[in-house]
Amino acid sequence: MANCIFCKIIAGDIPAEIVYQDENVVAFCDIHPQAPHHILVIPRHHYETLLELPPAQAGQINEAVKTIAMERGFARSGFRLISSCGKDAGQEVMHVHYHLLAGRSFDWPPG
Ligand code: 5GP
Ligand code: ZN
Repeated sequence: MANCIFCKIIAGDIPAEIVYQDENVVAFCDIHPQAPHHILVIPRHHYETLLELPPAQAGQINEAVKTIAMERGFARSGFRLISSCGKDAGQEVMHVHYHLLAGRSFDWPPG
């Protein structure tokens, strides 16, 4: 999708620290990390929000999250997975993405 920052990262047109990729999913470090580990996990295909994401793609992302958590050593200590959907949730980049946060404890409820 033209003018999508995350599509440009997938294409290699914008640099990013890629931590995981497979046929369907790409994960890279957030440019403004909110935790020691702050990874954005996205489908290669451009969908705007969770509302458009097909179940199979959601499952592939979930499997990628598990792999990343194991590989980076925070599967057992814990992590938080967040996808902001739409205006009230504060979604800024309209390519569906999950924030994978770890390396510290997190409050609830979120702000
Ligand atoms: P949202 O607010 O849409 O849920 O999250 C978008 C996230 O993308 C933010 O945490 C922001 O820091 C991150 N982000 C925005 N632009 C870039 C970029 O060019 N590179 C990387 N690595 N992250 C970005
Ligand atoms: Zn995109």
